[in-house]
Amino acid sequence: MLVKDKSFNLFIPQSAIQARIAELSKQIAQDYADKNPLFITILNGAFIFAADLIRQIDIVSEITFVKFTSYESMQSTGKVDQILGFDDDVFQRHVVLIEDIVDTGLTISEIIQELKRFRPASLEVVSLLTKPSAFQKDVHVRYVGFEIENKFVVGYGLDYDGYGRNLQDIYIVDEH
Ligand code: 5GP
Repeated sequence: MLVKDKSFNLFIPQSAIQARIAELSKQIAQDYADKNPLFITILNGAFIFAADLIRQIDIVSEITFVKFTSYESMQSTGKVDQILGFDDDVFQRHVVLIEDIVDTGLTISEIIQELKRFRPASLEVVSLLTKPSAFQKDVHVRYVGFEIENKFVVGYGLDYDGYGRNLQDIYIVDEH
């Protein structure tokens, strides 16, 4: 599979993604049953994951979106510039951040720091993918879809320079 100038191989098929999402959503629904959680989806990459996840969490909840930038092409810059702000009231809410992938952890750490200023009642993270060997920060991701090796992936919302987000499966870069 070619995305722009790079070759990718099938890595996590859509059936496995959906099976894992069913488990995650069940657990989150149990944990937040009476908490009226506020789900904050981190755009752009998490939009497809969030859409599938949230539709299976059958409890009263609110959903909003936020957008930051940090990644340039295939390298994390570690800098987070907020683009769309938190215009929803986070104060004393049980907040669940929905992320596509935690790589170095710098992005999610900055977002957590920013959000804590608004004093939520609780703050947890659900991420479809994590790369534990790339973590540079001590990040706690409460709900993890799949732990993966430290290689670049695309598909299911994740892009390579804007391309590949619409792929139904997740693909991993072919380094040969
Ligand atoms: P971090 O700050 O944790 O290093 O990077 C987080 C962001 O970088 C993610 O939200 C995602 O947008 C992007 N990212 C990290 N690893 C990958 C990857 O393997 N593939 C893609 N497409 N994006 C990634």
